[in-house]
Amino acid sequence: MGRRRRKRYKKMGQQRRRLPKVFQCPACGLPNLVIDVEEYTVSEGDESFVRKRAVIKCLNPSCGLRATMEDIPPILDAVDIYSKFLDKFTSGEIEVTYETSEEEGVEESTE
Ligand SMILES: [Zn+2]
Repeated sequence: MGRRRRKRYKKMGQQRRRLPKVFQCPACGLPNLVIDVEEYTVSEGDESFVRKRAVIKCLNPSCGLRATMEDIPPILDAVDIYSKFLDKFTSGEIEVTYETSEEEGVEESTE
C-alpha cells in the first residue's frame, strides 16, 4: 500500500509577520475591508491539494460586509483575492452578508 507522506515543516528564514492588509470595501467605499486568508488541504483520492480560504470582512460597523471564498489557488495572495472578490461582488457571483451590530435589538418574537 502507498506510503504515507509526512507533512514537512519548512523552516523559514524570515519571520512571518502578519501585516494587516486593508482594502477598500465595495459596499461602503471605506478602506475598512480586511481579508483573512488561511490554507487548508483537500484530499482527492491519493492526492492532496493546498487551497486557500478567505474570510472577507468590512470593519465598518454600519456596513458589516462579510463574504467567504474557498477553493482559492494557493498562489494567490490577499491582493489577488481582493480583486477576485471585487469581480464576483460586481457580478453578483458571491454571497455576501451584512452583519451590522445593531444594539437596539429589535426582537422579533413571532407567536
Ligand atoms: Zn463596508
